Amino acid sequence: MDELWVARFIQTPGGRCFVHYLKNFAKKIAGSLWTARTPTELILFVTERCNAKCRHCFIREPANPAQLSLEKVEKIAATLIEPINTLVITGGEPFMRPDLLDLVDLFARNKPPQTTIFCTNGSMTKRICDTIGSVLSKYPGMDVKVQISLDGLEEVHDEIRGLPGIFHNAVETIQAIKEMQRQQRNVDVIVMTVISTQNLGELAALNRFVTRELHAVHDFELIRGSSFFNIPAELRAYADPADDSCQCPTLATLREFLPTLREYYRANARVCYSRLMGAYAYGYKAAKIGYTVKVLERRKPVRCGAGREWGVIYASADISLCEMIKPIGNLADTSFNFSQLWSGDKARRARKALKCYCTHSCFIDGDFFKRPGSYVAMGFRFCEFLLRKD
Ligand code: SF4
Repeated sequence: MDELWVARFIQTPGGRCFVHYLKNFAKKIAGSLWTARTPTELILFVTERCNAKCRHCFIREPANPAQLSLEKVEKIAATLIEPINTLVITGGEPFMRPDLLDLVDLFARNKPPQTTIFCTNGSMTKRICDTIGSVLSKYPGMDVKVQISLDGLEEVHDEIRGLPGIFHNAVETIQAIKEMQRQQRNVDVIVMTVISTQNLGELAALNRFVTRELHAVHDFELIRGSSFFNIPAELRAYADPADDSCQCPTLATLREFLPTLREYYRANARVCYSRLMGAYAYGYKAAKIGYTVKVLERRKPVRCGAGREWGVIYASADISLCEMIKPIGNLADTSFNFSQLWSGDKARRARKALKCYCTHSCFIDGDFFKRPGSYVAMGFRFCEFLLRKD
């Protein structure tokens, strides 16, 4: 068997082998089996500053946007106990920070993450490419994912994001990172689309564009809002979309839309992945969106990982179990000692009080892979992908 033949079956879009991803998943599942002393999956809001004004955004940019200084980040990273599987760097727009590479360096020195995900609107092409290029060459063992938002084709995307020209720049960034993939095996680019009432009619054309023109992995996430889900009022953070007209489609619409969404995933997996990896990626995504609809039906199909493997640090240094519920405290109270605050009484009480469920796909992952039903659903979609000829 030559290498090319094998690659056709088991390679991921970035060139990493399937086995590499299996190892990462095994770690993730292992991490979800007990309550880690500090999160193994960490969402870090590095700044509240942003150059866009997205209608669906649940973070409000205040008059004086907060930003975690490097000194504070270093103290936080040094007080994490568990190894980090995934560090999600988000904001605001993280690349508004010219010192983002220094921030990654601090983590890499103290608690090197297995995977670092950069969530960006893709507007600052040069800065993004320079930073990602440096991260890739400094840390060849780290998996780097660049998640770039596209919510529609040019007109709709620029309108939703409130920044003329952002579509053009984001596409340029996606193409530039894809170019880097030719040289570096440790980088993936993911086009992320937030599904809302504003763009349902646009998704078919967008999926075609991302798949056929950009040849990029396309993923979807339902719009979030703390009032959309079954979260008790006393726990709920104020995290609804900035624009009231940007809402979650109704359950009836989503039920009807589900087969179409599966088709988007299938078309994308056919083009962007090798055969076996495509079947796996499709099986996983198609099974998981089924869970999302169950959540909206007010059923609780999985236990979420908030406060156990997952944790959130805001740019204000507040920490929370997830983004939809109120923070449990501010790191300034413990001189930026993360583990002290995370293991304190307040955090313990907040963990016990969690009786909510939502569609936050990251937080579902750990439990999803522990349920036998997930493997049945994934297996069914996996075979469907391999057997269908079109
Ligand atoms: S289900 Fe989990 S992620 Fe969702 S709101 Fe509740 S604690 Fe947060």
